[in-house]
Amino acid sequence: MKDRSLAEWNQSTVDPGKSGKEMHELIRKLYPICRSITGDGVRQTLKILQEYVPLSIHEVPTGARVFDWTIPMEWNIRSAYVRDPRGRKIIDFQKSNLHVLNYSVPVQSKVTLEELKAHLYTIPEHPDWIPYRTSYYKENWGFCISHNQLLGLTDGEYEVFIDSSLKNGSLTYGEYLVKGQTDDEILISTHVCHPSLANDNLAGIAIATFLTRYLRPLSTRYSYRFLFTPGGIGSITWLSQNEQQTSRIKHGLVLACLGDSGNITYKKTRLGDAEVDRVVMRALQETGDPHSILDFTPYGYDERQFGSPGFNLPVGCLMRTPHGEFEEYHTSADNLDFVKPEHLSHSFSFCRRVFEILEQNRTYWNTNPKCEPQLGRRGLYSAIGGNADGRLHELALLWVLNLSDGAHSLLDIASQSALSFEKIEKAAEALRKQGLLREQLRSFHG
Ligand SMILES: [Zn+2]
Repeated sequence: MKDRSLAEWNQSTVDPGKSGKEMHELIRKLYPICRSITGDGVRQTLKILQEYVPLSIHEVPTGARVFDWTIPMEWNIRSAYVRDPRGRKIIDFQKSNLHVLNYSVPVQSKVTLEELKAHLYTIPEHPDWIPYRTSYYKENWGFCISHNQLLGLTDGEYEVFIDSSLKNGSLTYGEYLVKGQTDDEILISTHVCHPSLANDNLAGIAIATFLTRYLRPLSTRYSYRFLFTPGGIGSITWLSQNEQQTSRIKHGLVLACLGDSGNITYKKTRLGDAEVDRVVMRALQETGDPHSILDFTPYGYDERQFGSPGFNLPVGCLMRTPHGEFEEYHTSADNLDFVKPEHLSHSFSFCRRVFEILEQNRTYWNTNPKCEPQLGRRGLYSAIGGNADGRLHELALLWVLNLSDGAHSLLDIASQSALSFEKIEKAAEALRKQGLLREQLRSFHG
């Protein structure tokens, strides 16, 4: 039963320590699966997520047009290996799914070392790590191995075998809507197309999944739409199939790389000063934790699709260390030890705080705008005068009354007064109870 507001819930039962461990357990379950932009890996992943949240699974057939793109052939893989000239299996997909170039076409052949080398990928700077490489839109096959292993290969005839298939099938994505009091939506999107990589992006998947669990029992103003889509083509597909509904999206976050030890990084929406931008920045500022704010760029994760000019949706991207800026990015070192329960839990709590401020950020009219109302008569001045907290509360009351002219939101008032959002919200709540505020229903068009 939905009977509690988000703020009440946040103050009571959520145990971030416990949720950090549970999210890490989910990541552990999903880690071995070989995901890609299509195929059974994504289906299997979404089925596991259904144990946590009843999300719907959508299939869009190969060949379907989605704006300028076409849903590709579906890729699946059963096994793959390389045998050396002595017949020993020296590279084996069963040991790590990163060993196979993602979307490799099937192959069964004998090749020389030189021929093999043209299909091998390594990272010389990190000679023990296996890189993660893909070839979605160009037919190719290949293996990814450690640089040290490459250096140890001797001349001779190698046997290469990839038992994969590229066939007509479909692209799979997951979607879940937490219904709120209004149809105005907050979009949370995360990609589900990477194989055994933990931070990019099982961390995002785990946090999104646990956010659905957290929001479901609550009574919220907004509806929350969660998308679990393959990166790029998945969000393009969703936007193409749901174009008419996108006007409901009032705020959004793409979640990625949220389990590492770095500080939180927020990449702003294309608009640059959307409400979600100001809310995230306010939440970061108030935590006092070191953090980074980046301007929008048409690169990165699916914020570039949501922020394409034909949609221009207010969707930012929340990360810890951004993609490409941690050494482990797209390598076998982005593993289960690289993401930690405490960082997952911190990212999760931060998302909750962002939602809480978005939920509470309303705009009011002062119902007694001609000179100040008499607060003492209404019991609004603290009984024990003189303490610092009481003075701040009184100051907050005066700011809210003065700026509640239908044009300033509580977030605007917090910024202008240099008081915390929480103080301003508490003052607004006290004034609301006394009938001194009336909500300005919002227009998102102006
Ligand atoms: Zn990636």
